[in-house]
Amino acid sequence: MRAKRSKQYKKLIQQYQLHHGFREPYQVLVDADLVHDAERFTMDLQASLERTLHGKVKIMITQCCIRHLYSKNKEPGINRAIDLAKTFERRRCGHRPDDFAEALSTLDCLSHVVDEKGRGENKHRYIVATQDQSVRRYMRTVSGVPLIYINRSVMIMEPMSETTAQVGASAERAKFRSELRKAAGEKRKRDDEDGDNNEDGDSDGDDASGDNGDGKTTKDDKTEEKKKKKAFGVKGPNPLSMKKKKKPTTTTTTSGTGSAKPKTGDDGAHKKKRIRKHKAQPADGAAPAAAAEA
Ligand SMILES: [Zn+2]
Repeated sequence: MRAKRSKQYKKLIQQYQLHHGFREPYQVLVDADLVHDAERFTMDLQASLERTLHGKVKIMITQCCIRHLYSKNKEPGINRAIDLAKTFERRRCGHRPDDFAEALSTLDCLSHVVDEKGRGENKHRYIVATQDQSVRRYMRTVSGVPLIYINRSVMIMEPMSETTAQVGASAERAKFRSELRKAAGEKRKRDDEDGDNNEDGDSDGDDASGDNGDGKTTKDDKTEEKKKKKAFGVKGPNPLSMKKKKKPTTTTTTSGTGSAKPKTGDDGAHKKKRIRKHKAQPADGAAPAAAAEA
């Protein structure tokens, strides 16, 4: 059991290293109750944490959590806990006694220390070791916070929270994608771009689509053909945009050749102009004549 759990924790901390940038020495924020419990169970807190996390550990305690210990001064064994806590690095949380007559709750203090700006990020990469369930519940919503607690003299590391696991998964996907891009790189991009042009060309005419089919089978000839087709393809999009407008007026029979399209367009324009001229001239001529007659 113990060996199995140790293996699990090793994997876990590796995940945190990989996706969340954790490095030794790990900074572990402990709360008053955890320090107290470690003393009660006569655990070597430093050694237990390093065994659990498979690496060097720097234990830190906030000003508020130290005050929690002092405020429990009537409980048995608290003095040893206080002495132990004094050896830890003090994390200045900014909740000074001058400003706060009473120490903030562990939840208020640690949530401020870990995720100062409330963005759901563990910017300083703290590991939180707390006996307070509400703190652990909150920290599960912040991405990348390893959580530790003591249960009957056994140190437990929580499995990764859903929030943290999602960040890891998306980071892995992004990494995978960037590696794919590097590997296939620009070649693939060029292919995609050409592919789009070819598709446009296909809709222009049957002949063009036939050429594209041949080009796809051979790789070396592909590039040369594509250069030619690119020139052809540049013309392609413009006729296409013309085509959509014409669709209601002209039938699809003329779509075989691109050269025929401009002619039809010109003819249409001329006809329209002529019609207007014809209509306008007799109307102008007739109206005065009619007026003169009347
Ligand atoms: Zn504080």
